[in-house]
Amino acid sequence: MSQTTCVMFGDELADYHFGQDHPFSPKRYWAFKEEFTRRELTKKVALCSPQSASEKQLQLFHSPDYIQKVKRLSIIGKGYLDCGDTPARHGIYNAACTVVGTTLSAIDLIMSNQYRHAFTPIAGLHHATRTSAAGFCVFNDCGIAIEYLRKQYNIQRIAYIDIDAHHGDGVFYSFEDDANLCIVDFHQDGATLYPGTGSIHETGIDKATGTKLNIPLPPYTTDDIAKELWQNIESFIGKAKPEFILLQCGADSLSADPITQLNLTSDFHSFVARRLCLLANKHCNGRLLAMGGGGYNLENIKVAWNDVIETLLSSYKRGISPLT
Ligand SMILES: [Zn+2]
Repeated sequence: MSQTTCVMFGDELADYHFGQDHPFSPKRYWAFKEEFTRRELTKKVALCSPQSASEKQLQLFHSPDYIQKVKRLSIIGKGYLDCGDTPARHGIYNAACTVVGTTLSAIDLIMSNQYRHAFTPIAGLHHATRTSAAGFCVFNDCGIAIEYLRKQYNIQRIAYIDIDAHHGDGVFYSFEDDANLCIVDFHQDGATLYPGTGSIHETGIDKATGTKLNIPLPPYTTDDIAKELWQNIESFIGKAKPEFILLQCGADSLSADPITQLNLTSDFHSFVARRLCLLANKHCNGRLLAMGGGGYNLENIKVAWNDVIETLLSSYKRGISPLT
């Protein structure tokens, strides 16, 4: 293994968007690429091409009826896939299949021991439910990834950590009763931001009670507060003995995002990535996939995602250490 980290990299990923003037525009990928190239990370990581998911792979998580609906509206190219956030852009079906296929390909690359860690920028579409689109998310690649790890690789115990400003409701409620999925979700308090969910009192249901941790943050929360709240997280994840770690590292939790109000910096993203790498090295042979998630300030996307990649690169083989 000459390189430990792979980045899913290819202009096809920019096709997942809802127009030049929509917050989820193709400029997000171009901003990421510009900074990724400027830092010469192209020479330090392995570059792996986007792939497209099959309908069968989508069905690991989504209902056949919903998949057909997306296909149909993608051809028509008018209206919305949900109540008004996620336009049914012409060609969105294929673009959404590329997001999912690329996330699953990153999992294949890790599970075949080619790389320890992987990053995929246009991914982490955590709002889509099994039967509907929501919040710019057509297919929930996170949810599909969880089902895929189980079905394809018999990986049962998974930790999903989400530091996007929005609560990852599509993942949370789809696996609310799943005791083998440990969820830690930092997000701006649902009383002040879409989708309005993610109360601290929601910890999973039935046999899964106590396996989920919601950490709602008041608007304008800063790194020091968020890092303090991280203190108990590692023992919580450790107890779950994860065989694979998924990180949704949305850049919309950074200060000056146009649609959210947290005041974190990319230092928090680096911190979380570093700590999760250490946990992954301890529990699961380093297996960690980071997904870009949201982020609608292009400068924040540049710094947060590329800082996460640099952290993944520098975290190989380090043992668990005191919080830094
Ligand atoms: Zn978000």
